[in-house]
Amino acid sequence: MTDYRRLAKTWLTPSPNTMILQPTTFCPMDCGYCYLPNRHRKKDLSVDTVEAIVRGMADDWFTDKPVEIVWHGGEPLAVGVDKFEELLQPFEPLRAAGKVVQRVQTGAILINDAWCDLFRRYEIDVGVSIDGPEHTNHNRVDRGGRPVFSRIIRGIEKLKEHGLPFTTLAVVTIEGTTRAVETLDFFADLGCHWVGLNVEAKEAANVSGTTPEIDQAQRFWRDAFEWTAEHPDMTIREVDNMAKFLSYDTEIRKADGRHDLIPTISWNGDVVLLSPELLGVHDKRYNDFIVGNVVDTPLSTLLEDVTRVPYVREFLDGLDACKQSCQFWDYCQGAHAGNRYFEHQTFTATETSHCQVAFQAPALALAELLREDTP
Ligand code: SF4
Repeated sequence: MTDYRRLAKTWLTPSPNTMILQPTTFCPMDCGYCYLPNRHRKKDLSVDTVEAIVRGMADDWFTDKPVEIVWHGGEPLAVGVDKFEELLQPFEPLRAAGKVVQRVQTGAILINDAWCDLFRRYEIDVGVSIDGPEHTNHNRVDRGGRPVFSRIIRGIEKLKEHGLPFTTLAVVTIEGTTRAVETLDFFADLGCHWVGLNVEAKEAANVSGTTPEIDQAQRFWRDAFEWTAEHPDMTIREVDNMAKFLSYDTEIRKADGRHDLIPTISWNGDVVLLSPELLGVHDKRYNDFIVGNVVDTPLSTLLEDVTRVPYVREFLDGLDACKQSCQFWDYCQGAHAGNRYFEHQTFTATETSHCQVAFQAPALALAELLREDTP
């Protein structure tokens, strides 16, 4: 019989490094590849629920590294600046003690002076979702189908005007795989120093998402590696991850990594684990992925023994199968739980088109470059 508690100890963090909170379900945008199923409805998180979340965080979660609180939506800024400030209050004693840091991931179209003032006062790290130059953002539209690119840029200009640093997250579509250099030049000119590149995947409401083939992704990552060599001031998340991995001793590279449980808490306090994309997805087999509600049960209790959760057990089985079968395991460590489910409707699956383009393709691209460099 599988000893899930042992597997959980090996592959899951004992407490969360990151928590994702949904201040509102609503988003004024309607991006073509958005995975959020309830983005047209407006349901807001209450201060009472945030207080319950904070009460439910256990003391032993706070080590030398602060827990990252990420406000994600919907569009988190759609909740309004005053309400958002109210939602921040219960975390203030923890932030003052250096136990949590605040972060928001936004489409940026609502950023104005009042938001910038709030970001500064609460030391909120800002991540902006933008895909590259204007023509690569055709998927980013408002509810009337109008492009929002100029409004995103206006929001970014506001951040710059206030001297606020920001990071960026971009979706790379099939067409985007041929435009790595153009895309990365754009981000360098935009004034950010960190970009995460999410190759488009089929997930949640983005049921028609088309993932590039592995050779298309390999070409993209090859171009990205070459670009990085010429632009040391810019950090590309995936290139950086690979560089860090290669810098470790063999023994560390061979060691098992741990997956963060990433508790993601909806506007009404429901909690899903392992993948924020599972929030709002209906599947009776998995009780809609909800492991409990923070209003009834402290979050620390909900996370006490996650091996009682069937989809967590399945994910542990999937990791075990990956470790036994995949040559990319040491670097990839099993990729992301959500993609297994969205592509195969089970967490026990191993290979996905997502892991091919996001983990295997960069490794293959780098190996190809190194081979060419070897005399
Ligand atoms: S590359 Fe895919 S199959 Fe291999 S370990 Fe990662 S998730 Fe598993």
